[in-house]
Amino acid sequence: MPFYDLRCKKCSEEFNIMAKMSDRESNTIKCPACGSNELETVFKSVNIVHSKKAEAGDCPHAHTCGGCCNH
Ligand SMILES: [Zn+2]
Repeated sequence: MPFYDLRCKKCSEEFNIMAKMSDRESNTIKCPACGSNELETVFKSVNIVHSKKAEAGDCPHAHTCGGCCNH
């Protein structure tokens, strides 16, 4: 079963839960804090960091590779 990082739209509680895909699709997952099933998926900061790395001119090794990211 996959893990889901979810945020409650009602009380803003963020939690990580392991659930069946069918549970997520049918909204049977509930907020552990208030019991609401109005949840949205949280996109982890890891993904943001990864996409940011691909930006030109934002290479952390610019001093050795000239910013080309092909080091
Ligand atoms: Zn809640």
